[in-house]
Amino acid sequence: MNPNPHPCLTCGACCGTFRVSFYWAEPVPEEYTEKLNDFRACMKHEPDPERPRCIALGGVMGEAVACKIYESRPTPCRDFTASFENGEPNPRCDQARARYGLPPLTPQSWNA
Ligand code: SF4
Ligand code: SF4
Repeated sequence: MNPNPHPCLTCGACCGTFRVSFYWAEPVPEEYTEKLNDFRACMKHEPDPERPRCIALGGVMGEAVACKIYESRPTPCRDFTASFENGEPNPRCDQARARYGLPPLTPQSWNA
């Protein structure tokens, strides 16, 4: 077993921080989305404004999570990189993690 699993699998903070909107015709399962306007849709979120958690996120934030529609997730989710996943920090990843009391990732977070 990998002693250092992918950090996102024990996080999920970005899915509980940012509202995700995308071009309406992206093939995202409709029951997880709502219309924003004539051109854009967004992921449905839990109604709590303090915790705008995407309804497609399963599991327990900060412990073990998984996107229920991972293969069909919208473009902003595909494009969002965890800090140092590609060698560069991502302040939005750090910001989301801080919101849930999680420390920012470092290059060492990715050492197998
Ligand atoms: S906040 Fe960063 S580490 Fe957490 S799930 Fe999102 S990209 Fe991964
Ligand atoms: S669709 Fe999946 S990856 Fe995107 S915000 Fe929702 S749970 Fe996170």
